[in-house]
Amino acid sequence: MGIITISAANCKNCYRCVRFCPVKAISIRDDQARIEDKACIQCGICVNQCPQNAKQIQGGLEAVLRYRASGQPLLLSLAPSYSGAFEQSLTEIAAELLKRGFSLVEETAVGARIVAGEYRRLVAAQGDGGCLISSPCSVIINLVEKHYPRLLPHLTPVVSPMIAHGRLLKARWGPESRVIFAGPCIAKKEEAREPAVAGAIDAVLTFAELREFLASPELPPAQRPRSLAPNPDAGKGRWFPLPGGLLRAAGLAEGVLEQDILIVDGMEEVMAALEALAAGEIKPRLVEMLACKGGCIGGPFMPKAPVFPARRDRFITTLLSLEDGEHIAGREEIELGREFRVRPYQRIYPGEKKIRAILDAMGKTTPDKELNCGSCGYESCRDKAVAIAQGMAELEMCVPYMREKAENLASTIIDFTPNAILVVDAQLRIKEFNPAAEKLFKVMAEAVKERPLGMVMDETHFATVLNSRRPLQVKVEYPHLGIVTHQRLSYIEEEDLVLALIIDITDMERQKEAFATVKRETIAKAQEVIEKQMKVAQLIAGQLGETTAESKVLLTKLIQLVQEGGDENVLP
Ligand code: SF4
Ligand code: SF4
Repeated sequence: MGIITISAANCKNCYRCVRFCPVKAISIRDDQARIEDKACIQCGICVNQCPQNAKQIQGGLEAVLRYRASGQPLLLSLAPSYSGAFEQSLTEIAAELLKRGFSLVEETAVGARIVAGEYRRLVAAQGDGGCLISSPCSVIINLVEKHYPRLLPHLTPVVSPMIAHGRLLKARWGPESRVIFAGPCIAKKEEAREPAVAGAIDAVLTFAELREFLASPELPPAQRPRSLAPNPDAGKGRWFPLPGGLLRAAGLAEGVLEQDILIVDGMEEVMAALEALAAGEIKPRLVEMLACKGGCIGGPFMPKAPVFPARRDRFITTLLSLEDGEHIAGREEIELGREFRVRPYQRIYPGEKKIRAILDAMGKTTPDKELNCGSCGYESCRDKAVAIAQGMAELEMCVPYMREKAENLASTIIDFTPNAILVVDAQLRIKEFNPAAEKLFKVMAEAVKERPLGMVMDETHFATVLNSRRPLQVKVEYPHLGIVTHQRLSYIEEEDLVLALIIDITDMERQKEAFATVKRETIAKAQEVIEKQMKVAQLIAGQLGETTAESKVLLTKLIQLVQEGGDENVLP
């Protein structure tokens, strides 16, 4: 499982992460975003961009608590960008961590300084025409290994400062000690378990996780481990988080001709540089690459406040205020070499026929219909069609296509419903007049659209709904057309419109009238029979009187039934 997971419940399928992922490693299937781990370079951009906080990062705190509980010495390697993320000084952070079970807090810059020396040596030994791509940034390694495997031989075969420092700490304090790295980068979580360098770092925390740990309760003094003396020998290794920092730390910035050196930061520049290198358009001797714009201080997992320039300012102020310690690097012998492996992520590029068929299915039947609006997360409709063919995207991600589909469905319903539909605006001008309305009011839509409603019917009920903003149901007769209608009027707040659904109830009204006539006649007949019976009863008194009384009861019931039956035809 990768280090980023997506909560299906939170993902609202907005495609923002697809848009921002520099290597398009996010697929959408069944209306859910999924990270394709084989393609993901762990830049973390999508985590930061998700407005729903749907992405979770594999946590490292659990491991730290486990190591602490087991009594193994906990050593913290603190990435040099810490001063951009924390207001406290290194000494203050270290003091708080010692109260919570750490034995040592040391700057990763100690490892960076040694790595910088190795770069200096390799550049000096480099033959003519060689090109080295810097490798302290794990995202750059992932990018080259997965997406630019041809450039793999150019990755500088040196471990990152994190790994160098982890090895240094273990060499000094014993292999049983647990080295925890804290930094601004989630890619370090995977780098720590990469087979080529595994064993140097036992857990990786983001600065946010470290902050969480710092907020946890202190250990009682009796349970705190003995503190160990940190190596203050970080020197210019502290410059690594800034673009050009590695070169400065290695003392290379002045030694190589300007055009031999390329410094790029941010995914856009990095990928452009890799493309140019792969195409042979540029031939620098050394390319320093940092995936995050502005270097690690600009990374997606640095706190949002203060803003980047203020963070950078604080970082540089801290950096200049720190003095170099005694130069003790090199006392421990550690392996600095590193191998990389090709992990190509290849997608089969579909043929033109397939792309064309998908574009057609999206309604992009002609080039002018290819809006290239980017709402699906892809640069162009064609890119999106390719992604669909590769199983990374779905047809329904095209917003204009879905809107058109919905509009077509809506207009089909409006066109084919047997009931008249009218829409009027706040000025009582007709905006919609469907074919059933044309038939009912015997006027063509073109003749009345955008014209006053009064041309077709009385405006009173529509004006009432506009003013009250409440729905209304009325029966309205149009004697000149020979029709009776039942009208349901609703106010549409978002558009300030009135929508009317008009049902022709003329036939129903006629049936009701015919039934009422029959009813009236039946009642009259029954009354007549009763009166006649009563007269006969008065003439023949005695035993016949009872029968007559029964007839009267029966006929009276019949009258009631007829009257009640008539009420069932009243409109709801
Ligand atoms: S950004 Fe990606 S993960 Fe977040 S809600 Fe949108 S589609 Fe889902
Ligand atoms: S971490 Fe980076 S590469 Fe991976 S899915 Fe997110 S944006 Fe894409």
